[in-house]
Amino acid sequence: GSTIGVLGGGQLGRMLALAGRAMGYRFVTLDPTPDAPCGQVADRQIIADYRDAEAARQLAQDSDVITYEFENVDAAVTELLMAEANVPQGSRLLHTTQHRLREKRAIEAAGVKVAPYAEISSAEELMAAAERFGTPCVLKTATGGYDGKGQWVIRSLDEVEAAYETLSLATTELVLEQFIRFEKEISVIAARSPRGEVKAFPAAENIHVNNILHLSIVPARTTMDVQRQAEQLAIRIAEELDVIGLIAVEMFLTSDGQLFVNELAPRPHNSGHYTMEACKTSQFEQHVRAICNLPLGSTELLTPVVMANVLGQHVEPLLDWIVQPESEQVGQGVTAKVHLYGKHEAKHNRKMGHVNVLAGSVEAALEWIEASNIWNVDK
Ligand code: ATP
Ligand code: MG
Ligand code: MG
Repeated sequence: GSTIGVLGGGQLGRMLALAGRAMGYRFVTLDPTPDAPCGQVADRQIIADYRDAEAARQLAQDSDVITYEFENVDAAVTELLMAEANVPQGSRLLHTTQHRLREKRAIEAAGVKVAPYAEISSAEELMAAAERFGTPCVLKTATGGYDGKGQWVIRSLDEVEAAYETLSLATTELVLEQFIRFEKEISVIAARSPRGEVKAFPAAENIHVNNILHLSIVPARTTMDVQRQAEQLAIRIAEELDVIGLIAVEMFLTSDGQLFVNELAPRPHNSGHYTMEACKTSQFEQHVRAICNLPLGSTELLTPVVMANVLGQHVEPLLDWIVQPESEQVGQGVTAKVHLYGKHEAKHNRKMGHVNVLAGSVEAALEWIEASNIWNVDK
């Protein structure tokens, strides 16, 4: 069989390897932390910084196909890998999605709306743009942000200077966005293969707590029309941006039914973990299919589902619950499927696992989550 090389050894790589191994592929991963989540389930882990040219070359030698599980891959590393191995996803999409301005321009060029934004390179420009957009507005670093890090919600013009000072410490490239008073946040993951086949998974409704994904609810509690529009929009982005593999599209839905794209992630996405039991094909299997140019699998939803993230602070209540006899079949047709990532230290807000709660309705799944007491530590 073929070997798939994965840059990065976190949980996304782990679940990718678990899915790919079931399909007969071998896996080698490159990550500096010994016993990384992906390293535990891969055939082999190269323990090194991925920017180490020797280690990257080793990965290239050992792999028939190379993919990545995080998007801040160094351009030099991508180039090296592309010269020495098969990287079907290429480097262009990474280059685009690594920078919020390039990403927004590409989304607009695909004919899809983003929140009004402005490139900011001085405190004066920030003041002018903040006056134009009004407050609140959101200042973000163009590169490197995640889990809401690298951004500042400017609530009044008095904060402009402090926001600029603080965020420009990290980088000089900043973007100001108009604040979208969204009704819901939605995401759609689409896959595209080299032969040009494209499929979208059902739209997920996402609930964040402290800027970290807490729940993904599927079907999203919106009209079918909005769901279809969101899915079409993701397909359009996948096609226009020549995506190979997965693209996750985060969007805002406003009360008047408009969709604005917030950001993209060219990889498996936390909001797609629900697919593992709730769809005919998981996002991980779909990614393997796409990068290996196999026919894409059916994205059909089999059951309503709510995915709940298990952060460091939820691990203890989860482990208390899991030993109880009712933890598999919880009655009222609810089934909770636990996924843990094999991380050793349960730090606060660290993603340790997730639970897919399958039920007859998303309301029943949400009720179960509420009653389980696992997530009450956040309240
Ligand atoms: P991720 O971990 O998803 O990569 P991130 O740090 O890249 O997060 P964003 O997704 O850009 O950050 O923003 C985090 C959250 O902040 C969004 O999910 C949304 O709730 C809120 N947010 C961001 N931009 C806006 C905006 N323009 N208007 C309203 N809310 C926003
Ligand atoms: Mg992001
Ligand atoms: Mg985001």
